[in-house]
Amino acid sequence: MSESLVVVGASVATTAFIERLRELGNSSQVRVIDCDPDAPYDRPPLSKHYLVEGEAGDIAVDWSDLDAELVRARATSVDTSASVVRVEYPDGRVGAVPFDQLVIATGASAARLPIEPADTTVLRSAADARNLRERTANGESAVVIGAGAIGVELASSLAARGSKVALLDRAAGPLERLLAGHLGQETSTWLADAGVVCHWEADIARISATDGGWEVELRDGPVLVGDVLISAVGARPAVAWLEDSGLLTHGALMVDADGRVVQAGTVVPHLFGIGDAVTRIREGGPGTRTESWAEARQQGASLAELLTGVSRQPAPPSYFWTEVAGRKVQVVGSLHPDAVPVLEFENPERGATLHRYDAPDGTSAWIGVNAQPRIARLLTAA
Ligand SMILES: Cc1cc2nc3c(=O)[nH]c(=O)nc-3n(C[C@H](O)[C@H](O)[C@H](O)COP(=O)(O)OP(=O)(O)OC[C@H]3O[C@@H](n4cnc5c(N)ncnc54)[C@H](O)[C@@H]3O)c2cc1C
Repeated sequence: MSESLVVVGASVATTAFIERLRELGNSSQVRVIDCDPDAPYDRPPLSKHYLVEGEAGDIAVDWSDLDAELVRARATSVDTSASVVRVEYPDGRVGAVPFDQLVIATGASAARLPIEPADTTVLRSAADARNLRERTANGESAVVIGAGAIGVELASSLAARGSKVALLDRAAGPLERLLAGHLGQETSTWLADAGVVCHWEADIARISATDGGWEVELRDGPVLVGDVLISAVGARPAVAWLEDSGLLTHGALMVDADGRVVQAGTVVPHLFGIGDAVTRIREGGPGTRTESWAEARQQGASLAELLTGVSRQPAPPSYFWTEVAGRKVQVVGSLHPDAVPVLEFENPERGATLHRYDAPDGTSAWIGVNAQPRIARLLTAA
């Protein structure tokens, strides 16, 4: 493998990539460029434990034995003909980092609604989580826009630490996209029991700043009032920095099933992409982009296997977990909206259930609630 391997983005996909390289005995020098002063760290705890009472140790990822050089800089473009990444350092200096092989792993950034004021709070980084924790330290109230995984988790966490929380979404219930419409009633009830006031099928008519707070007026609905306004309406791939590099296809960084960057139907030599940043081309279907810790790790490890030329481990089934008002919800496989649930396991004392969802196309997926050992067995059996 190349002597000069550069990665942009120092998060979970990159951690798994370098860990697997080292496991496979590869000792190439790896330089990793990241602009976040806290990187590398894990994002899932940011909306959960870390938001409630977290310390740096709860999210820190140890790279001390990975033999990787971390370069604190923002990547601004890739010059493919000169094989350099252009960067801007925190002190404003600019530079160029040469590469023989480049891995793009810049993840995602928070999406925004056009109606949102520019100073609406979002949660993507460790600094965002600390900011939100400070701003709700005295039980300040919050209005949360968006009931996907991050909105639901942070609403649960803020309610648990004493904030009055209003959660709104256009959907008919929480986690609608993630759970394909399943468990809507149950998750709504858990949130309500935890003190989160939910507004479903909500359409925002107006957002205004008040003296020290916010008002969110819903069309045909109430005016919600909060000290803090938080937007959790999804994520977009963080690839805008590649706009002038000729690597994007309609704003997306496309990669093939192996993680090679593809532009205009052709593989770009020596360039790879992993994690939330990339859209994978699927044979006979549209490209898919995931926002999943486990999938980002899988893509990182698989790319290390490709670059070292070892035969690749078969990919495990897709897996995602989230937390709703203190319950761990885990999903294995792809949920179909018309799938029929079959109860496979129940333990009322622990509030644990495992349902299998059989889809009309013959495939099955599982949702476990507080059913970690059962889910672990499903993942290892696959
Ligand atoms: C609050 C929160 C909670 C989550 N909870 C869960 C969960 O419970 N379960 C789950 O499966 N997933 C969860 N996720 C999603 C999961 O964390 C992501 O899928 C995963 O982090 C993606 O990893 P990645 O390596 O692709 O990129 P990211 O983790 O997004 O990291 C990208 C890195 O690139 C850096 N970067 C970006 N642009 C540049 C640039 N131009 N120059 C230099 N550096 C750059 C960033 O600073 C960052 O360090 C959560 C995400 C968030 C934000």
